[in-house]
Amino acid sequence: MATKRLKAYQDVLHREPKMVDSSEKLSDLYCSNVFHKEVMREYLPSDTFKQVMKAIDLGDQLDRKIADQIALAMKDWAITKGATHYTHWFQPLTGATAEKHDAFFNPIEAGKAIERFDGDMLVQQEPDASSFPNGGIRNTFEARGYTAWDPSSPAFIIGKTLCIPTIFISYTGESLDFKMPLLKALHAVDSAAVSVCKLFDKNVSKVNATLGWEQEYFLIDQALFNARPDLMLTGRALFGHAPAKGQQLDDHYFGSIPDRISAYMRDFEGEAIKLGIPVTTRHNEVAPNQFECAPMFEECNLANDHNLLLMDLLEKVARKHNFRVLLHEKPFAGVNGSGKHNNWSLSTNTGVNLLSPGKNPKSNLQFLTFFVNTIKAIHDNADLLRAAIASAGNDHRLGANEAPPAIISVFIGSQLSSALDNLEKNIKAGKMTPEDKTELKLDIGKIPQILLDNTDRNRTSPFAFTGNKFEFRAVGSASNCSSAMIVLNTIIAKQLKEFRKSVDSRIKGGDGKDEAILKELQAIIKASKKIRFEGNGYGDEWVREAEKRGLSNLKDTPRALKIWEDSKVISLFEEVGVLSKVELAARQEIEYENYILKIQIESRLMWDITQSYLIPAAVEYQNKLIQNVQGLKSVLGDKSGLKSSVAQIDLIESISNHLNSMKSASDLMLEERKKANKIDDIEEKAIAYCDKVKACFDTIRYHADKLEMLIDDEIWPLPKFRELLFTR
Ligand code: ADP
Ligand code: MG
Repeated sequence: MATKRLKAYQDVLHREPKMVDSSEKLSDLYCSNVFHKEVMREYLPSDTFKQVMKAIDLGDQLDRKIADQIALAMKDWAITKGATHYTHWFQPLTGATAEKHDAFFNPIEAGKAIERFDGDMLVQQEPDASSFPNGGIRNTFEARGYTAWDPSSPAFIIGKTLCIPTIFISYTGESLDFKMPLLKALHAVDSAAVSVCKLFDKNVSKVNATLGWEQEYFLIDQALFNARPDLMLTGRALFGHAPAKGQQLDDHYFGSIPDRISAYMRDFEGEAIKLGIPVTTRHNEVAPNQFECAPMFEECNLANDHNLLLMDLLEKVARKHNFRVLLHEKPFAGVNGSGKHNNWSLSTNTGVNLLSPGKNPKSNLQFLTFFVNTIKAIHDNADLLRAAIASAGNDHRLGANEAPPAIISVFIGSQLSSALDNLEKNIKAGKMTPEDKTELKLDIGKIPQILLDNTDRNRTSPFAFTGNKFEFRAVGSASNCSSAMIVLNTIIAKQLKEFRKSVDSRIKGGDGKDEAILKELQAIIKASKKIRFEGNGYGDEWVREAEKRGLSNLKDTPRALKIWEDSKVISLFEEVGVLSKVELAARQEIEYENYILKIQIESRLMWDITQSYLIPAAVEYQNKLIQNVQGLKSVLGDKSGLKSSVAQIDLIESISNHLNSMKSASDLMLEERKKANKIDDIEEKAIAYCDKVKACFDTIRYHADKLEMLIDDEIWPLPKFRELLFTR
């Protein structure tokens, strides 16, 4: 008897919203657990404070004496907040964050102890790195790894622990994390963008990439979650018939938020705000029990740390409210999956958003420069962007008519499209006359007015311009944004470097500055045209059209990951100084491995669930039916007994058919897995897992979901989609 499922459901019905004390104003809580600039000013001698600020701004090394002073200040502040431990907080390539806590407490002689935390402990630690993925970088005889302080992201307190954001590198200096290459890419885009800005404004000395993420997630009651081994172990439902009502009535999106959920949201938002995460937006998403949370945008490295912290908080706080959060890209077939839009722009130390149209022709020319160069970078590196968002989970979303397709393209809206078309057409070859220039300037000057009433929104584009930023919409909800941001900032850095070089050589060749810029923009507009697409990205026509244009359509992770070994990609990353050949190869290997393991776990679990949950339930119900048929025959006699059992016999047969088909597809899957496991080459193995093992999932599931429809509700062992998605 499936008491587990029914008991879980009963539990949910008795839940009350867990109210939290909301007497405090959010603005009073903001950053209260962060060792931010103002706290440093208070705790540090003013000389030291100035040096620290300068080092953070310029990315300089801090000397040991200063590190000691900061460590002392951090410790004193943390102890006033009740902290007893500290940890280096880092982002290994597992995708999760990692921490190892050490106590401030330090016994110095019998019966006597002090709280100790000095510069060495702040700056560098040596965690046992052997159990993090390294893609072959670390030899087994040298398993050491180091974490090193990232002063550009402030330390914070969670619970009783002071957390210090750090990078994670091998003994030989290769990065083993997401943060180090992100910092390098941000540094590269900073210097390349500053050099282009100098064409327009000599006062620009620093350009920050900005990131505003939007995090989607599902919330499921803890009891129902615990009764679903697939949700527990893989984060997605491997089985489950779509409910009669899903999202077709469009009644969930932006709908009123139920009490239990809004109590949860208030709680995690309060915690987020204490950690300095400026969360401002919350709403229901398209699917039932799906929600979104978004903060104000911030500098990219900080924004990314904040996203990782928020994902952690979502989970921690959910447990307190008897919920579990699902960050998987596609927890439930048949309803929308979850993504993480990455809104991205570039902003200068002079307060200018470089992707925001300006107030006059000059600033608009600067806007166009960054705008057009971004499009060109995407055009030249579409496959890399695709690889950056590849994961087993995201494969379910991309191209499934709910998220952007796996084809990378750029949407800019009809007004900007015609502005670019005009520029392309109107810039004549040869020397420009003063009249030509005036006319062009007039055209360029019109852009802000155009944009004001340009409300174009194309939700089907993976990379869309939205008025003053680009929005990369294909990022998976569970992934570390760094993966996308490392690639994006690297390719933009490379493109801006090339642009400055070409403009300089045009100027050397005799063109005026504006003329050189305009002509170079024209060349870039021409060369990157095929990546621009304004139509419906979900349609089949686009797939055909994209193929004609020569754009890639890499449908699954194993195919998407191939690009990491391309010699052009290696030179790009080495030239921009973000990742070395060895580091790239290691990352590729880790991603293949990760893909294989994810599919392997799903496959094992599919087997377990069919064998130990579904087949027994089907047999139990079938036996009930058989007993009934036999009973009817013994009461009514053979002939009328059989006549009265037509429906039951039909059901008995249907159940047998689905059982047999489910079982033989499971057996085939098992065989394929055995074969795949024997393959040595990791790419081939990943492809086998994709094409052979995963290929069996749909058949197994099809028959299992049919059984769910046929079998007595009382007997069915797994909580159904209607329970998972509509109880809250
Ligand atoms: P939506 O895309 O849902 O319509 P908005 O356009 O208001 O919502 O903004 C979405 C996100 O874009 C927000 O998280 C916001 O912080 C971010 N954003 C706004 N301006 C920038 C910028 N200059 N750089 C990066 N992100 C930005
Ligand atoms: Mg958005």
